[in-house]
This record gives sequence, structure tokens and C-alpha cells, in this order.
Amino acid sequence: MPVVTRTRETVSAYVAAGANLGDAHAAVCRALQDLGTLPQTHVEAVSSLYRSAPYQAQGPVFINAVAHIRTRLNAPDLLIALQAMEYLAGRVRSHVNAPRTLDLDIVFYGDARVDSPGLTIPHPRWMERAFVLLPLQEVAPHKVNPALLHAVENQQIEKWL
Ligand code: ADP
Ligand code: MG
Repeated sequence: MPVVTRTRETVSAYVAAGANLGDAHAAVCRALQDLGTLPQTHVEAVSSLYRSAPYQAQGPVFINAVAHIRTRLNAPDLLIALQAMEYLAGRVRSHVNAPRTLDLDIVFYGDARVDSPGLTIPHPRWMERAFVLLPLQEVAPHKVNPALLHAVENQQIEKWL
């Protein structure tokens, strides 16, 4: 187990959850709940669930959502914790953009900018993806503007639950 290091302050972060294999609905709902069981982490708000056609990915329809969390984990430890949740949900990384039982991405971590080999924050593709922007708009309206939404309006996505 990695040593859990903590930042001094609580940081507001946004995590995008997606799944399109197995019971994707259950996997995303469970992940949204389980974020609150991570050490020093509290779930502030969760978006609605969305259904989206695979975009830059393959396989069945995706279920997507975004959670606003407050955490004292630093960003690398948060990523490790999210990857452990993906693993426990049965994720196998067969190839890039393969269908997945659970994908958890850090979209924002406070105002941090991180550019390391295994971690980029803000997430490098968040602006291109309707399945991030639409749920993000619900929990972080200040991060999303009409021009961003306009740019993704040809992507197939619907609010589901
Ligand atoms: P994707 O989420 O882009 O479909 P993966 O979930 O397979 O692809 O992630 C590939 C790699 O992206 C991970 O091994 C992780 O180290 C890296 N990564 C870089 N930045 C982030 C981020 N902000 N959130 C989650 N993973 C990230
Ligand atoms: Mg990912």
C-alpha cells in the first residue's frame, strides 16, 4: 500500500466517472458513493447520470457523471486511489480507449496545473468531451461556458437519471 500523504489544505476537485461494460449504471453509482470512503475525502455534490455514445472510445453506450469532492489527498495519491477503485471494479487495460467497467479521471484539482508523465491536470481532453462538460456544468457551472458546450453539441449524449 502506498503511504498516504496529505496536503495541508482541503482541495476542491472534480472527478469524471464513466463505464460501458458490465452493469455500467451500477459501477458509476457505486463509484460516486465510494469516493466518499476515500481517506480525508468528502463528496460535495454529484451530477445527474448521462448516457453517451462512445467518443474517442469503443463498445456499448457509456454511463457518465461528475463528482465534486473535497479532499486532503494530494493529486498523485488521489489518482492512485481512483485507479484502485477502477481495479476493484474489474477494469482491465487491454488497449488504449478500450471499453471499460469503470474509468475515473481527475478533471480539476483546485487550481493546480500538473504535467507529469502519469498525471496531467486539468485533464487534457476535458474541453473536448460532452460527457465531461454536461455533467460538470451541473456541479461546477463556473467552469463551463456556452462556447465550450457549442463545440461539443454534435456529440451524442442525453441526461438519463
Ligand atoms: P482515459 O481516461 O484517457 O480514457 P485511461 O483511464 O486508460 O485513459 O488513463 C490512461 C492514463 O492517463 C492513466 O494511466 C493515468 O496515469 C493517466 N492520466 C493522466 N492524467 C490523468 C488525470 N487527470 N486523471 C486520470 N488519469 C490521468
Ligand atoms: Mg482514465
